[in-house]
Amino acid sequence: MESKKFFLQESEIPHAWYNLIPDMPVKPRPMLNPQTKQPLTHEDLYPIFAEEVVRQELNVTDSWIEIPDEVREMYRIWRPTPLVRARGLEKMLDTPAHIYFKNESVSPVGSHKLNSAIAQAYYCKKQGVTNITTETGAGQWGAALSLAAKHFGLELAVYMVKVSYHQKPYRRSIMQTYGAQVIASPSMSTKAGRKIITEQPNCQGSLGMAISEAVELAMATPGCKYTLGSVLNHVSLHQTVIGLEAEKQMEMAGEYPDIVIGCFGGGSNFAGITFPFMRHKFSGKYNTRFIAAEPASCPKLTKGVFQYDYGDEAGYTPMIPMLTLGHGYTPANIHAGGLRYHGAGSIVSQLMQDGFMEAVDIPQLETFKAATMFAQSEGIIPAPESSHAIATAIREAIKAKEEGVKKTILFNLSGHGLIDMAAYDQYISGDLRNYEVTDEDVAAATSSLEKLI
Ligand SMILES: *Cc1c(COP(=O)(O)O)cnc(C)c1O
Repeated sequence: MESKKFFLQESEIPHAWYNLIPDMPVKPRPMLNPQTKQPLTHEDLYPIFAEEVVRQELNVTDSWIEIPDEVREMYRIWRPTPLVRARGLEKMLDTPAHIYFKNESVSPVGSHKLNSAIAQAYYCKKQGVTNITTETGAGQWGAALSLAAKHFGLELAVYMVKVSYHQKPYRRSIMQTYGAQVIASPSMSTKAGRKIITEQPNCQGSLGMAISEAVELAMATPGCKYTLGSVLNHVSLHQTVIGLEAEKQMEMAGEYPDIVIGCFGGGSNFAGITFPFMRHKFSGKYNTRFIAAEPASCPKLTKGVFQYDYGDEAGYTPMIPMLTLGHGYTPANIHAGGLRYHGAGSIVSQLMQDGFMEAVDIPQLETFKAATMFAQSEGIIPAPESSHAIATAIREAIKAKEEGVKKTILFNLSGHGLIDMAAYDQYISGDLRNYEVTDEDVAAATSSLEKLI
């Protein structure tokens, strides 16, 4: 392994997050209040989220938003993260492409999620909030928020998607070790959960259901706010530290990426790695390709419809203009739990409409094959989610070889897979399979959406 690393100094941790919206040629449509169907106001969101988070969510004018000292101070635990030229992987593929990855797996919880968890917990604390709630799929967001909540002295209740609660017991123990309370969702502790269990007693849960439960608890509890780990604009905003650092590090490497890739659940790590580079595409300076890699079993970007939809199963959240499979869609139980979400955030959905980015859907077995190649050539066992980005980078590197052109490829390694070894076990013993979603499945899941667009 002869891979080369590019390091920044601590003083080079960004001082501001980058807000893409002011630079977008076509702005996303506004989110809507679910009752009135009118554009969402700050007041609509204040009961659910911390006030500063709401101001960031609806900010369409400021390109740069200062990172508070308390947040930057915590980023110093593991940031800046390394940028790595994956020479081992290049050699294994015998490709003329140069492959770089930004290693977000070095955070204490093993994923990029901490970048936003710290910011959200900080804003809650600053406002005098005492309790927070959230949902988690594979447990990555829950783990990150558990650490952040403990640091800022907040009590945290996490609704964890039931299938992951059982598939990934160690993520639950990680959250509990940091001091959070973890509840398998759907649960009997909320109205939304009880309704689902009554109708489908064996329901294994989804991110959409867990969000409904967490929002309901936050709304019903004084001094309690809800936090979300992806999809929304402010979460994407916080993740831009990834791309801002990567931009400087690519400069150190003396290259500029032709292709930037992120795996895609709700869009936060994809936004994080791509948005800082995307502004140079808007300005016409570079014609970079941006590729979102989603699972074939949950293909909202490649097969979904562009429509207003809810962010959760019960319809408590604002209506978001999104590429969606429908808020009632329950994806297959793939191991990339963090990618099992029915919709994409409003910014990315608009960028897809306007052709500034593309998407690919990757079958589960291809992601584990790519993960194994990456582990053997670069030494890092990737998260099943991140393996979608790796598989896409490998596809592009092979294409570069076939075409005989040098391409510079950058992807985000959103997390490591050391707590996902049960999934690797199943892959090794041949027990994993692919899941296809047909156009009929999508039509059925989206037929009940109101046609507001
Ligand atoms: C949560 C998660 C994702 C997917 O979420 P996004 O918001 O789309 O980034 C991807 N990779 C890892 C490691 C995750 O934990």
